[in-house]
Amino acid sequence: MKNYVYFFGGGKADGSADMKNLLGGKGANLAEMNHLGMPVPPGFTITTEVCQHYYNCNQNFPDELGTQANKAIGKIEEIMGAGFGNTDNPLLVSIRSGARQSMPGMMETVLNVGLTTHTIPGLIHKTNNDRFVYDAYRRLIMMYADVVMEKASRKEPEEDSGIRQRLEKIMEEHKTEKQYTTDTDLTSDDLKMLVNVFKKEISDVLGEEFPDNPTEQLWGGIKAVFQSWNGTRAVNYRRIENIPSEWGTAVNVQSMVFGNMGEDSATGVAFTRNPATGESKFFGEWLSNAQGEDVVAGIRTPNPLNEDTKTKDTKNIISLEMAMPNIYKKLTDIRINLENHYTDMQDIEFTIQKGRLWMLQTRAGKRNGAAAIKMAVDMASEGLINKRTALKRVNPEQLDELLHPMLDLKSEKRATLIAKGLPAGPGGAVGKIVFTADDAELWHNRGEKVILIREETSPEDIHGMHAAEAILTAKGGMTSHAALVARGWGKCCIVGCGDIHINTKKREVSMGKTILKEGDWITMNGTIGKVYTGKVELIPSDPDTHVEYRTLMKWADEIRQLKIRTNADTPKDAAQAINFGAEGIGLCRTEHMFFDESRIMAIRKMILAENKSERQSAVMELLPFQKEDFRGILKEMGEKPVTIRLLDPPLHEFITLTEDQIGDLAEHIGQNPSNIKKRISNLHELNPMLGHRGCRLGIAYPEITQMQSRAILEAAAELTKEGISVSPEIMIPLVGTFTEFLDQEAIIRKVAKEVLKETKVEFNYTVGTMIELPRACLTADEIAESAEFFSFGTNDLTQTTYGFSRDDIGSFLPDYLDRKILSHDPFQSLDVAGVGKLISMAVKLGRGVNPELKIGICGEHGGDPASIQFCKDNGLDYVSCSPFRVPIARLAAAQAEL
Ligand code: ADP
Ligand code: MG
Ligand code: MG
Repeated sequence: MKNYVYFFGGGKADGSADMKNLLGGKGANLAEMNHLGMPVPPGFTITTEVCQHYYNCNQNFPDELGTQANKAIGKIEEIMGAGFGNTDNPLLVSIRSGARQSMPGMMETVLNVGLTTHTIPGLIHKTNNDRFVYDAYRRLIMMYADVVMEKASRKEPEEDSGIRQRLEKIMEEHKTEKQYTTDTDLTSDDLKMLVNVFKKEISDVLGEEFPDNPTEQLWGGIKAVFQSWNGTRAVNYRRIENIPSEWGTAVNVQSMVFGNMGEDSATGVAFTRNPATGESKFFGEWLSNAQGEDVVAGIRTPNPLNEDTKTKDTKNIISLEMAMPNIYKKLTDIRINLENHYTDMQDIEFTIQKGRLWMLQTRAGKRNGAAAIKMAVDMASEGLINKRTALKRVNPEQLDELLHPMLDLKSEKRATLIAKGLPAGPGGAVGKIVFTADDAELWHNRGEKVILIREETSPEDIHGMHAAEAILTAKGGMTSHAALVARGWGKCCIVGCGDIHINTKKREVSMGKTILKEGDWITMNGTIGKVYTGKVELIPSDPDTHVEYRTLMKWADEIRQLKIRTNADTPKDAAQAINFGAEGIGLCRTEHMFFDESRIMAIRKMILAENKSERQSAVMELLPFQKEDFRGILKEMGEKPVTIRLLDPPLHEFITLTEDQIGDLAEHIGQNPSNIKKRISNLHELNPMLGHRGCRLGIAYPEITQMQSRAILEAAAELTKEGISVSPEIMIPLVGTFTEFLDQEAIIRKVAKEVLKETKVEFNYTVGTMIELPRACLTADEIAESAEFFSFGTNDLTQTTYGFSRDDIGSFLPDYLDRKILSHDPFQSLDVAGVGKLISMAVKLGRGVNPELKIGICGEHGGDPASIQFCKDNGLDYVSCSPFRVPIARLAAAQAEL
């Protein structure tokens, strides 16, 4: 017969910590704490398989469950010396959810199950405390009505008029009437009266009586917990955290212990180390004469756990260390045992019943980035874990938090919160609000700090997004355009902020009750998705001031094999990336060098030139500018390799002109405007992304390739002469046939010879290509005959492999993800099965011909931990990512070796 029920109690347990899949995290750890000899109220876990059965079989339980559960209740009764439903000596239980992966607060719990009008007298007699019994009863009624009678049976209440709110309101009114300040002021007479009013309200509102039968309560509660697996909150959380809905939750039925039996009783939560700072100090909160979630719910200000962690706010309230020194001592022993056993920071829940300590939960505690790093490094130094485990303990994405300016915590606390959204780009930002990308750029250019607020962003907004300190959108999720772009730049960003309503015409935005006008100051905390009015103080980030960060990164660098480069177009970005540990530039784009106001006229002139010599002279106007650009970046990088990509963007981007611009241009190059218009319309393309771009530009206009390679090589020669050794790598973009490569390579080599002759300086340079078309992968062996390096441009390679346009994917991607047609956004994390197969093939073909072929990857994926693992597995030499992702890539590359 299948085991659906796992018992724990009295120092024994059927399950253990490694059975999380079956028992859920909570159940598995309750079992484990029994094995460790810790005081845990006895109980049993109903497995996640029952949840799966429940949903697969029309919300019915397996036949054997009832018998197995009854047997387990018998065992609890034996240990506790009480009977479930026994009128003289009743046993009460809690019914608790518990999924494989913790989903804090997402599912339901019901306490004090088994209290009925028949068992109340017995419990009063036993405890000699009728206030306690009625307090427990009113809690049961509130929780049960909410969780079982309303939520689980999908009686959708109107906003704010759920049964729980109604009952709470009744209690609040009674307290006000009696001039009580806290729940503990309620007397047993108050509570007796309240439970009757509660029951009447329940039957009036829900049209059903609160059950007066323990067994009905028990099974109603168990069902409700399974129901809560599919509650709205839980479903949303699963979607965000990528938890499969098939997993299901377990249910724990556990003997109650009572923290609400008087001043010698209490309930509390604690972390074995501080989850905000990582400090190795026992940190927690507790409340006397309280039960369950009182501590978290903020009903009273909780007391601090010990003297050491008191704050300004808690310095005058008594700590557990002082109030119950014996219990505190026991708890600190448990803290040490748990950390030694689990070798990680634990988040625990405990209850004290009449001077006796009970453990109710332990799990690996959630922590922020800085804390995760400190704990990992500290624990390794303490010998609790080794370096490799320490490296695994920090999620590379968490490093992000350390790399951006942050809000000063104290000023943030005082600030006025006006809206909340999804935390798409971490860090803090302060700026004046503007509503269009053009304004953002305009204001930025005149030296103002701005925050761009949009309904949502599109590629057309890029310039404004770049100019802005931060981006705030009303719509969109964590993979929206705004979120992607901001993350790439390491920019503070909040998306999907439903609280804001934008009126672009009036240039104002309402956030809740606040109305803000263009130019008003706001502050954003992108790490947690909060928006404040006015200016909150920012503190700059300098991760290297963080000792443990430095240590962890040192360990990462020792282990990793992959080199980490950065994508950078300017000396400033390059310097930032070197600071973060970049070992070279994997992609230096040259586009922006052309779009600069002072140069674009020359490039337009070149495109519209009527003959070769005209074209040549137009392009050569650009040479000095380009040489300066390359000098700057090569100098910054010194010996480190710099991959410079020749011009790539679609031709039309240079000649999409307004009437005025055509007029100016006509004057400048001495042509007739109608002539120019004709030229432009001849060059019009239906699908520019697949049109005249990449090496196709250099093939049509060899002057460009000539000029760019000359600029690069002359810059290199000059620097070499000045005693700075440099390593430029010239990259030909969007090659699909090896003949394209040969054509461009020949131009570059010829220029190199000339430069060498003219300058008489020798230096190293290489010529390679960006692999971003399926055909290039398929014929990589041909290309590798001549190319000295490959760099996978996985953005375009993903586009061209799927036939998806990255800029348009937003219209259908949400459906694809919802309906699991795609498991993730292939532009964020590499599609291993398809695009990955092409890459593996190209690596094999390329290295087959040239074992020395240097291979890397640039594009979004270069900074994505899962994709980095793929790169390591496929023998790439390096990954290249945006400067702010360099530390993330360093750690991910180390983890790829573990
Ligand atoms: P969550 O998963 O949301 O943390 P729990 O199942 O841990 O929910 O229950 C919430 C709280 O209820 C616990 O922190 C504890 O204080 C209280 N609780 C649960 N079971 C018991 C019990 N058997 N005895 C006393 N208190 C309990
Ligand atoms: Mg809990
Ligand atoms: Mg490309």
